[in-house]
Amino acid sequence: MIDMKGIFGGENGPAHADGHPRILALANQKGGVGKTTTAINLGTALAAIGERVLIVDLDPQGNASTGLGIDRRNRNCSTYDVLIGEAKLRDAIMPTAVPRLHIASSTMDLSGLELELGSARDRAFRLRDALAGLNDGLDKDNDYTYVLVDCPPSLNLITVNAMAASHAILVPLQCEFFALEGLSQLLQTVEQVRSTLNPTLTIHGIVLTMFDARNNLSNQVVADVRQFMGKKVYDTMIPRNIRISEAPSYGKPVLVYDLKCVGSEAYLKLATEVIQRERELRTH
Ligand code: ADP
Ligand code: MG
Repeated sequence: MIDMKGIFGGENGPAHADGHPRILALANQKGGVGKTTTAINLGTALAAIGERVLIVDLDPQGNASTGLGIDRRNRNCSTYDVLIGEAKLRDAIMPTAVPRLHIASSTMDLSGLELELGSARDRAFRLRDALAGLNDGLDKDNDYTYVLVDCPPSLNLITVNAMAASHAILVPLQCEFFALEGLSQLLQTVEQVRSTLNPTLTIHGIVLTMFDARNNLSNQVVADVRQFMGKKVYDTMIPRNIRISEAPSYGKPVLVYDLKCVGSEAYLKLATEVIQRERELRTH
């Protein structure tokens, strides 16, 4: 049994008590690498430790919303409505079954965003502006300390909105042969966003996902990525774990579906590492 207090100390409280949430985007233009799984389960793990977390689903597929048990029929107000300026973010937020974990869900409408926004001057800043007043009017015990933005598998206007709104990018990288392929393109996009839209954007870290210790290839990929990206790679790796892939069909995070499985343990560890990096950033 995982003793959450034992692992996390419990008494440290939320990492960001300054009234502003830390905004992290889960981005990788490859599909199927673990962005959504990480958004759901890192979000749940952070909430389990005491953080107050908002997941913003920016993938038209809406898998983060589904995986957290939000029925499509209940998505009356979605991130699309927010980004086109027809709703306030606050109105799109719903609680989940996990205490302290909320979500702004998405619908397929989002795939039309680029056309809808056309050449509007602020089209890259729609999410940033929507998030700006997130904690306004909330008392200190209810304000969000983390926002996790789940990006679509593309470097399109939606992902650019996420990067323009975020403090840092968290990159899930699948332990497979082509893992590093596409990473340089992603880093280039981050660089472009940094030089134009968001000068303080950083890479928070790279999380290796679907790791299989018995597979030589998996081990080789880990060695390559660690050599190439050095300290940016989190120590924690997310193992390939059947419980992780089963959980979404029950509309549950894996930590709720099976707290004791290795997948849950890994996401709890990742959450402590993310918070640790946050503490280091603040003290430097
Ligand atoms: P993305 O959002 O990057 O497209 P997903 O998070 O949806 O990727 O993951 C793709 C698929 O892989 C999903 O079916 C998911 O359940 C599965 N998956 C993700 N992480 C793991 C893991 N650690 N172990 C087993 N299956 C995983
Ligand atoms: Mg996804």
